[in-house]
Amino acid sequence: MIPFEKTWPYEIIMNDLYVQDCPFCGESNVLLPLKPKELAAIHDGKKKLLVFPCCRNKVTVVDTDRDYLLTDTVLRKRPSSGQSEHSR
Ligand SMILES: [Zn+2]
Repeated sequence: MIPFEKTWPYEIIMNDLYVQDCPFCGESNVLLPLKPKELAAIHDGKKKLLVFPCCRNKVTVVDTDRDYLLTDTVLRKRPSSGQSEHSR
């Protein structure tokens, strides 16, 4: 079972990886310096330092699945009643 708070969803569009929102600065549709083919290597155990181009924050990607990057960094705060992350 993977720690959900260390995951972040990604999308592949035309052989590029995007995240819908940056977990650090909230930038939308961030193009990641990662290629889809690298995901398989990461899944095989090769860790990858990922630098978000929007704000230069760094995480290490330690695993991937079809929808999520698993990192060594807590990207999501615990679900709290005070803050809703629902988008329209
Ligand atoms: Zn950012």
